[in-house]
Amino acid sequence: MKHVAIVGSGLAGSLLACYLGRRGYRVDVYERRSDPRVAGAERGRSINLALSERGIDALRRIGLDEEVLRDALPMRGRMVHPLHGETNFQPYSVSGDRAINSIGRGALNDALLDAASATKGVTIHFDHPLTSLDPETGTLGFADGSQAKADVVLGADGAGSATRGLMMAYAGDSFTETVSFLDYGYKELTIPARDGEFALDPGALHIWPRGTSMMIALPNPDRSFTGTLFWPNSGAGSFASIGSPAAVERHFREQYPDLLELIPNLVDDYRHNPVGLLGTVKCAPWQILGRVALIGDAAHAIVPFYGQGANAAFEDVVELDRCLDATGDDWAEALPRYELGRRENSEAIAEMALANFVEMRDKVADPLFKLGKNVEHTLERLLPGKYVSRYELVSFSTTPYAEVRRRVKRQHQVAGAVAGTLVALAAAAIARRVVR
Ligand code: FAD
Repeated sequence: MKHVAIVGSGLAGSLLACYLGRRGYRVDVYERRSDPRVAGAERGRSINLALSERGIDALRRIGLDEEVLRDALPMRGRMVHPLHGETNFQPYSVSGDRAINSIGRGALNDALLDAASATKGVTIHFDHPLTSLDPETGTLGFADGSQAKADVVLGADGAGSATRGLMMAYAGDSFTETVSFLDYGYKELTIPARDGEFALDPGALHIWPRGTSMMIALPNPDRSFTGTLFWPNSGAGSFASIGSPAAVERHFREQYPDLLELIPNLVDDYRHNPVGLLGTVKCAPWQILGRVALIGDAAHAIVPFYGQGANAAFEDVVELDRCLDATGDDWAEALPRYELGRRENSEAIAEMALANFVEMRDKVADPLFKLGKNVEHTLERLLPGKYVSRYELVSFSTTPYAEVRRRVKRQHQVAGAVAGTLVALAAAAIARRVVR
């Protein structure tokens, strides 16, 4: 039986270890950091994720869904906090009861690490940053000078993947990579519990859309919310221009007045929590020599505005497992198949995630957008199963992302034609009245 090395024990790496261990492989996972179950999360890097159907499906297949979701909080829609006026709730699904699930990335990772550690054949080596790789022999080198060897090496080491860099160094011009950073960064702020209760409705993902920027907040089991500011890196109203305690308070008083009282440690959080980068990674190929391959963010990091990065990474694991089934565990055949099966889909969700940023930071507060959502939900009610919104297809189904993109385009064409016909009929009726 082959011996597999996985680089990175983040979300993709630890789930992948569970899947491959169950297939009977000997799996060694090499992780740069210390064991997070002992060391805990870094300040301002807690990140809670929205886990939806694709991720849950991957967990369900190996019986981990119930355990992982035990601490998750369902969010059935967006609660929009406009600068002026009342908050308004926009359900994610036509039925109003389908939910995405808020879960701490740390808690999710810990649960997967526990599951991987308990899987026969899996060993996790913490404090092992990968620094060199020979794709021809499967020899891995680590920062402390130690080495290991495996038949197959899978890089699950995130957006800044060392494995990807080493594949590129080996393959030269036949390997391409683009990393496109947004002009925006993110910073976490905590909204603590108030008198032991949630300070906001825990059944919603909260958004403060402010045109060129926004803040979101997701609930945590301890009744706090993790807020994330998505602001430009430079220019007016940016992380670069707002730094002093007085400027932070002034900006929040002007732009997020309701948050001032909800975040008692605003200035401290703002000044001490780091600004994270946001970007899209594309590279090709995802595998070389049928022996070394990339998975999750290492292959296709995306911006977080559709809440799909981890969900997509989990889908990669399912697809790789499917390809191993289909090829009788012939890795040289399975790895190119896996890349073929996932590439178009990862490109589609990368594009949809970028588009959703504009929707979240800007359009959700627009009355026309709300009207459009109501029309969309009406169409879904009138044409059950035939008209399904993009949000529902992405978050509440496992329809491949590329197929979602094609289907939504067709639906919009039909809806546009119907709307055009209705406008023409209305115009004709008005004209008849005028003539009479
Ligand atoms: P990672 O989770 O980054 O794990 C990579 C692992 O590799 C880490 O443990 C790292 O320490 C290790 N590593 C790195 N370099 C080395 C090395 N040289 N040697 C050994 N190990 C190494 N996704 C969602 O699905 N829903 C959301 O709501 C969502 N919200 C997000 C919000 C924000 C602000 C951000 C930034 C991301 C969000 N994501 C979300 C995306 C999600 O976090 C990622 O897609 C997911 O973590 C990818 O998993 P991964 O295992 O591929 O990479």
